[in-house]
Amino acid sequence: MRIGLYGGTFDPVHLGHLLVAQAALEELGLDRLFFIPATLSPFKPGSQPTESNIRARLLRLALTGHTNCEVSDVELQRGGISYTIDTVRDFARRFPGASLFWLIGADHVAALPQWRDADQLAQLVHFVVIPRPGEPITSSPPRFQLHPLQGWPIKVSASEIRARAAAHRSIRHLVPAAVADAIERDHLYGA
Ligand code: ATP
Repeated sequence: MRIGLYGGTFDPVHLGHLLVAQAALEELGLDRLFFIPATLSPFKPGSQPTESNIRARLLRLALTGHTNCEVSDVELQRGGISYTIDTVRDFARRFPGASLFWLIGADHVAALPQWRDADQLAQLVHFVVIPRPGEPITSSPPRFQLHPLQGWPIKVSASEIRARAAAHRSIRHLVPAAVADAIERDHLYGA
């Protein structure tokens, strides 16, 4: 069993995230891929994300009909700052013997050795680096074996979606149609 774990704030989920998922499923031959929204990201100190039930609902809408992709609320249930090692230990217990692949943006690679319990983390998961336009893929830090994903890097970001929604500009084609509908209908992100 090959399991992908894709952590993030997903505030909101957008097409960049979904293209990462498709690339990971195909290139890594994953059996299942879990999108794992964080309660609070250790990488975004001081920023208060949108209520977790809204982010999770938009993720579920985005993944409807996507075979092999699902939302895990393990970090939302745990609350507080979402440390990757806690989540990985949880999946390692749930799926003994499975190969676990943790997807990270190229922007996070250099700081990997500073992640909580980095040594154990490096033993429990294979790290897969997501390409992102403007983010060079740096070499693996010591003790980490990184697997680069090819994918289809696009420049869309959640902050850009939030800014566009707040300015009443279109977010169509940047997020799945069902997510755009929900954001407009419920006036999320100031839309
Ligand atoms: P924000 O703009 O709010 O910082 P984001 O768009 O970067 O958010 P996150 O939820 O932080 O979204 O992303 C989760 C993971 O997906 C991170 O590892 C991030 O690097 C990666 N990611 C986000 N957008 C893209 C994209 N367009 N292409 C490739 N990877 C992406």
